[in-house]
Amino acid sequence: MELVIATKNVHKAREFRAMLQNIPQLDIVTLHAFPQYIPPEETGYTFQENAQSKAEHAARILSKWVLADDSGLVVPALKGEPGIRSRRYASDSATDAENRKKLLKAMQNLAGIERSAYFECALCLANPQGVQKVVTGTCEGEISEEEHGNNGFGYDAVFSKYDYGGKTFAELPEEVKNRVSHRGKAIEKMSLHLHALSH
Ligand code: IMP
Repeated sequence: MELVIATKNVHKAREFRAMLQNIPQLDIVTLHAFPQYIPPEETGYTFQENAQSKAEHAARILSKWVLADDSGLVVPALKGEPGIRSRRYASDSATDAENRKKLLKAMQNLAGIERSAYFECALCLANPQGVQKVVTGTCEGEISEEEHGNNGFGYDAVFSKYDYGGKTFAELPEEVKNRVSHRGKAIEKMSLHLHALSH
């Protein structure tokens, strides 16, 4: 069964491929295979709304089964920022490094529990008839005072999951991050459904 992962983010695509490799019946492609396709604007107020609109739109236009994710980092002490604006936190065309720099600056006077944060991921599976399934995953941790590590992407270099020895996601091997991350948790839930569909 062909499944389009509705992303052009190479890091996310890599994580999806690694986490779905135990379902060999899935023939995974990403939006790189459809260069003419233009994704919809992200106008939702929640990760779930955005994941649904990405999946629904791509499934209808491409006439395929599609899995879309919308995810981001939530810092309660910053009133939920960067939240659904995680990718565009510093500016509409911000790099991951610019976003991390803005976050560390915004948190420079915060200590202890105020540095708590969590990643959230909403995953939506759709076909040309519409949305078929939505699941979510979260991962709780805290924001470090400086960047550490070179793996991963986005806010990985400033996020440490509780109980992982103070290591940031960017210092953990990819398979460890994938096992415990927000995206990993959501994919685990979605896998049951994908297994059933692809057999
Ligand atoms: P999206 O592509 O609109 O879903 O935006 C996701 C953004 O959230 C990314 O560009 C990152 O800034 C952040 N993000 C989501 N998941 C992760 C992750 O696993 N590690 C680090 N940053 C992430």
